[in-house]
Amino acid sequence: MRTYFFQQALLPDGWSNNVRVVVDKGVIQSVASDVEAEQGDQTARVVIPAMPNIHSHVFQRAMAGCSEYRLREDDDFWSWRELMYKLANAMDVADFYDIAKSSFQTMKDRGYANVCEFHYVHRDLNDPSNTYAQAEAILQAADEVQLPITLLPVLYSYSGFGEQPLLKEQQRFALNVDEYLQLYAHLEKQRKPQQRLGICFHSLRAVSPEQMHSVLNALPKEAPVHIHIAEQTAEVDQCMTLYGQTPVAWLLDNFDVNERWCLIHATHLTEQETKDLAQSNAIAGLCPLTEANLGDGIFPLEDYKNNRGRWAIGSDSNVKINPAEELQMLAYSQRLSLRKRVVCSDQSQAHAGSWLWQQAVAGGAQASGQAVGGIARNQIPAFLALQSNNPADANRDRAETLLDRLIFADDVGIERID
Ligand SMILES: [Zn+2]
Repeated sequence: MRTYFFQQALLPDGWSNNVRVVVDKGVIQSVASDVEAEQGDQTARVVIPAMPNIHSHVFQRAMAGCSEYRLREDDDFWSWRELMYKLANAMDVADFYDIAKSSFQTMKDRGYANVCEFHYVHRDLNDPSNTYAQAEAILQAADEVQLPITLLPVLYSYSGFGEQPLLKEQQRFALNVDEYLQLYAHLEKQRKPQQRLGICFHSLRAVSPEQMHSVLNALPKEAPVHIHIAEQTAEVDQCMTLYGQTPVAWLLDNFDVNERWCLIHATHLTEQETKDLAQSNAIAGLCPLTEANLGDGIFPLEDYKNNRGRWAIGSDSNVKINPAEELQMLAYSQRLSLRKRVVCSDQSQAHAGSWLWQQAVAGGAQASGQAVGGIARNQIPAFLALQSNNPADANRDRAETLLDRLIFADDVGIERID
């Protein structure tokens, strides 16, 4: 058993003072506020929970910062994808294991609580009939650095809407429904007790509606369901052409989208979709740094928030691994597009840092299907102590300001306490 005493801690319902936390068997057993420290408590001044990471393609870390040159005049997401495919087709199992292990360690060090790994490079480079080895390497890497993982094996069958055949450079991603269900069953046996699986469709362009229904009917009803949606306007246009609807509207009309679902990006939404997605209680999985890096567009967070929409953040391409910087980018994109200032806040939480962190932890736990919901009973303990690096700090005791500064300034650091 381990015990902690925090002078100020960000709990699911806001900041509390004099918080004592008891951890046993790897789980938080109790959280008490306005109490006194006891002998043997590990102490810290201002503490926030580690952040769930709801979206990662860990192999893309190998090209972080290496695609920042112009390939052609209309350089965009699709030309970046050509480079990314070259990388995906050059890495073997050992490469996957190495990049996963170092990236998962970085996620831990920078303040992430877990990772949801959206895994689609299934086929072994040297033995394409082997669809297990790559996924096993990722599970092993996560286990070795003790980062809780929700592994999301991805169904990826087509290159575009209307069941277009895969391109040559997409062959390593190829699975049909039977192969997908076999992989899922195999990984259920391989995974460690603290690891879990979720259902994943690459995107509406890469799977057919029939395939989605088959997979959802065959697999556990409590598993999280993740899908890329409406990241690029080109895929929105193609969806309109084939299905006569934009992707989110079509998905909401054709599937029972609820708390289990996490819609990655959901960048391009109509007003009605924004409202309907919020009401579904699904998570909008935002990846602000990658979305900015790839020139995707800006998610309408202000409207979504006003409809009480749930959201979370992911490191996606892992071009940078830093939850505070993801939230800064998210907040700044809103300010730039709305020409307003502290929009990421509400009546109960005026501080942007606290509002952003609380919302993203709650949404992240839901999307992960893991006990990473912060400093609360039955959750996995992962605490971040905030420390000011500014010796002339006049606000050194103000928890709200310290968290704002972690996100918006550069003079507050984190120390991880597990
Ligand atoms: Zn992605």
